Amino acid sequence: MIFDPQNIILKKIGNAADESGYRIFVVGGYVRDLILGVIDNDIDIMVLGDGIQFAELIAEKFKKPLDAVYKNFATALLNIDGYKIEFASARKESYNRSSRKPEVETAGLNEDLSRRDFTINALALGLNEDNYGILTDNFNGYRDIQDKIIRTPLDPLKTFDDDPLRIMRAVRFASRLNFKIDDRAFDAIKKMKDRLTEDKVVSQERITNEFLQILMTDKPSYGLDLLFKSGVMDTIFPELSALAGVEQRKEYHHKDVFYHTLIVVDNISLKTENLWLRFAALVHDIAKPRTKKFIEGTGWTFHGHEELGARMMKKIFIRMRLPINKLEYVEKLVRMHLRPIPLAKDDVTDSAFRRLAAEAGNELEDLLILCRADITSKNPDKVSRFMNNYVLVEKKIIEVQEKDELRNFQSPVRGNEIMEICGLKEGREVGIIKSKIEEAILDGEIKNDYEEAKKYLLDIKDKLLSSIMINKSKPPRLKKSAGS
Ligand code: ATP
Ligand code: MG
Repeated sequence: MIFDPQNIILKKIGNAADESGYRIFVVGGYVRDLILGVIDNDIDIMVLGDGIQFAELIAEKFKKPLDAVYKNFATALLNIDGYKIEFASARKESYNRSSRKPEVETAGLNEDLSRRDFTINALALGLNEDNYGILTDNFNGYRDIQDKIIRTPLDPLKTFDDDPLRIMRAVRFASRLNFKIDDRAFDAIKKMKDRLTEDKVVSQERITNEFLQILMTDKPSYGLDLLFKSGVMDTIFPELSALAGVEQRKEYHHKDVFYHTLIVVDNISLKTENLWLRFAALVHDIAKPRTKKFIEGTGWTFHGHEELGARMMKKIFIRMRLPINKLEYVEKLVRMHLRPIPLAKDDVTDSAFRRLAAEAGNELEDLLILCRADITSKNPDKVSRFMNNYVLVEKKIIEVQEKDELRNFQSPVRGNEIMEICGLKEGREVGIIKSKIEEAILDGEIKNDYEEAKKYLLDIKDKLLSSIMINKSKPPRLKKSAGS
């Protein structure tokens, strides 16, 4: 099979390899994405022989220094024209159970391809003239891309045992590409899941990085549910898997909070690419299991779950090595996620809206996005009623803010300048002139704009000053005094 990458840079690199006697291939994600019709700016080039030496040669040709060299991995990085090109020596790996860092030896094309995580990532495209665009596909990766299957080239148990991070990668690729993980691989994931956190074989940072990438896919519920069904969620984020389950007592049952959460995350992912807003959606109900109570005659309650949920965040952020500078944002959204609900009634005071807006601060808009995503009722009438409530809340907040802005509104030409232009000292007259300008703005005679206000002041100043002076020169009214 032939795939012309139609990429001028790859063609040039291929020519350079021919001139200098190297055999090179483009491998990994770029080939997979090319077949899927997706444009990728990360290119991995496999070099039979010394990858770093070849990278140096290319860097010279493009008159650019290498951007990084990793001697331990026989790898070098070069950024050209918006492409991130990684050159690596073809290698084979052997693993020791206490580490996911393998012993590395240089190898041939086939050995290198067989150490790769999934068949869809184990494809190589020739770049030399005699095999330009020819696909090497030793494990039916092309067929698996067509069939949308994530499968390991070798025994899946060994693949995940050697490097348990591949468990997270399998779920990430499945969720990103909307592929199915094949049954044998999925069974192996179930068996090997504890290796992820065992003996620190994989760093927490890497697990978290994959987890967050799953959260950034178009439909995160797919990957999150795979994590749950395989038992991986229990290993890496037990507070989330604890949300699953429905309990029934008498005629009362509560909804499955885990599946509710997945819908909320999918809803919010349609509206935002903000990872931390998506994360807040993921954890907004996290304290429901800990606050759950059955009350006779009322049913299930989760009183205070929003506050306890916010308080649970710090420990989770630390354990998962999440960036601490996002903690406050997530805590705030979790803590406030129920607050807008009661404000949709008619008899709510302005100050309640003012308080919500002040407390939410810059996060007000995100809070309302979260509230809308939290509506997961299957009853369309209810959904539209609840959605409409938030439209009302938003309208009321804007109204109150506009009122407040008018209340705090001031003439754009300030007191000092009025004194200077009119030759006045501090006093009542300055205030009178200022309110004249403000009224003209409020009446729409002039715009709320410095230049217009100043021009208006210059226009009215003489008339205004003389009328103020006339009033001033009138003899003061006599105070009533005893005897008059
Ligand atoms: P992405 O689009 O996410 O970058 P990718 O397939 O390019 O996807 P990378 O992490 O950039 O993924 O890795 C490049 C290639 O290296 C992969 O396609 C795969 O062949 C191989 N690879 C990466 N990580 C592993 C791993 N942990 N085990 C085995 N092979 C891996
Ligand atoms: Mg890549």
